[in-house]
Amino acid sequence: MNIILLGPPGAGKGTQARRLVEARGMQQLSTGDMLREARSSGTEMGKRVADVMDRGELVTDEIVIGLIEEKLTHDHPPGGFIFDGFPRTLPQADALGELLTKHGQQVDAVIEMQVDDEALVTRIAGRATCAGCGEVYNDTLRPIPADGACGKCGGTEFKRRADDNEESLRQRLMEYYKKTSPLVGYYYAKGQLHRVDGLAEIDAVSGAIAKVLDKV
Ligand code: AMP
Repeated sequence: MNIILLGPPGAGKGTQARRLVEARGMQQLSTGDMLREARSSGTEMGKRVADVMDRGELVTDEIVIGLIEEKLTHDHPPGGFIFDGFPRTLPQADALGELLTKHGQQVDAVIEMQVDDEALVTRIAGRATCAGCGEVYNDTLRPIPADGACGKCGGTEFKRRADDNEESLRQRLMEYYKKTSPLVGYYYAKGQLHRVDGLAEIDAVSGAIAKVLDKV
């Protein structure tokens, strides 16, 4: 089964994707993670996208479609793929459909994680991620445990993203509404859209997603 998690920055796509990986043997494909990896390993492409990412703008369709194509060609996870942060534009959505068809596959469900814009600012502005396992914490909503160790893996190193600041977030939200939100209508028209309340407790959101996937 191949699914898309759709929603603005801070909606909880990464958190839910990691849970699906554990529960269903799926593979998370986050173009944001792939681009950050390219930056930190200092590749030519990584250097080219760094400023665009820090400003909160989208990198070109060509770059992210290339990253996804490479994964679809080489990886064959038993549970299928979770697309997290991709597609983000209509041309990316068309390209994904074509790539999957080429590999004899399809998009089985699109989950829109609905959240309120004000909540996103709080979620993103205080976000920290465990460097070991990717567990997400938040200064206000879910602080790092007092002993400084990740509650999940015990790691003591936490990362904060360069683009998790208010100015960048506003730009990322603008990009979402201008370029990504039309995908809600696109997938609705294809009969693939399912909506969940992304502001509910993490377990409740996972439960709502599981309910959708069990019916697909
Ligand atoms: P994310 O981790 O999904 O929030 O992505 C971080 C940044 O990477 C975004 O603000 C964009 O600059 C870039 N990015 C990630 N995925 C895409 C995509 N599908 N299309 C264009 N830019 C992307």
